[in-house]
Amino acid sequence: MRWTRSDLLRSRADVSPPSTVAGAMREDEQELAERVALLQAALDAVPLGVVVLGPDGSELLSNLAASGLSDARHDQALVAHLMGQVAEEAGREGTSRATLELRGPVPRMVEVRATRVSDLGYAEPVTVAVLQDVSDRHRLDAVRRDFVANVSHELRTPIGALGALAEALAGEDDPDVIRRLAGRMGAEAERAAGLVADLLDLSRVESAAQPATTEVTIDRIAAEAVARIQAAAEERGITLECQVPLEEAMDGDPGQLVSAVANLLDNAVKYSDAGSVVDLEVRIDDAKVVFLVRDQGIGIPARDHHRIFERFYRVDQARSRDTGGTGLGLSIVRHVAINHGGRVKVKSREGEGSEFALEVPRWS
Ligand code: ADP
Repeated sequence: MRWTRSDLLRSRADVSPPSTVAGAMREDEQELAERVALLQAALDAVPLGVVVLGPDGSELLSNLAASGLSDARHDQALVAHLMGQVAEEAGREGTSRATLELRGPVPRMVEVRATRVSDLGYAEPVTVAVLQDVSDRHRLDAVRRDFVANVSHELRTPIGALGALAEALAGEDDPDVIRRLAGRMGAEAERAAGLVADLLDLSRVESAAQPATTEVTIDRIAAEAVARIQAAAEERGITLECQVPLEEAMDGDPGQLVSAVANLLDNAVKYSDAGSVVDLEVRIDDAKVVFLVRDQGIGIPARDHHRIFERFYRVDQARSRDTGGTGLGLSIVRHVAINHGGRVKVKSREGEGSEFALEVPRWS
């Protein structure tokens, strides 16, 4: 049998019936106090800030989340001020909502929503205000907007070029020029296709909360990644060297791991000059597997090391575009590392070359 709180109070009354009016009043007061305590405990368990304001704007009730929204007195005053304004409007309109930016060391966005409540037995309506830290939502909205703007910008370039080239082609009779224009159209189409392929890869690794882990052979991962890059390396006159232990196994998502190592190799080739060497080494022990990709290329200035894993961040826009870069490769690598419970590190000096280490636990 399930007991409700009123059952409990009733059963207690049954056990010891009040013998006087004063006794009955004491019990009523006690019951009221218990109800208020219960309401307060329930409100304190709500993760949103809740404040009930009386008809004159005074605070009748509030919960822990409302008072814990900010420690800074200045911020508290700003929130209280906004709440007053929102409550006033809710008093007139029925509901109201506003957002406030708090510019502390970590800027935050707070949203206040208020609703007028008329039937609580007060002569005038009270207002219930709900306060919520919406910083994460705002940040995600901004990231999404940036992402869409970046993708549009990246696609506009090859699509615009394709349009212009097609126009030029239409009015051309010279077979040599036609061949050249068709070749350039092919390259632009490849660039757009490369961006779409990277976007799909990124969305796949970003949405995979759990990678499809199986036992895989490490040298197969390395061989597949190398096979993807071999033609580009040969075309650029770059030698690929591999030091990979044979027949050793690990747990991981083979598709994701190949994609990550291939992206690192692709970058090593793209940002190196002809005649240089790109090296893939795999180090293993019982606990982890480290895929190391080294090049003797242009290197990365120290100030950019922490930013190169962001989507669309490029140290040198022109070089990345010239070599078919999409600005997404290292974000894919970082996500693969995270999905496997690992990390990716970079050591690089401008003009001397780079070393990327993708480190993942060997067994899941
Ligand atoms: P991209 O497609 O432009 O190569 P990535 O996300 O793979 O995009 O890399 C981001 C940026 O980091 C590149 O634009 C480049 O400036 C820099 N970078 C990455 N790998 C290397 C490398 N091996 N050598 C020099 N610069 C690199």
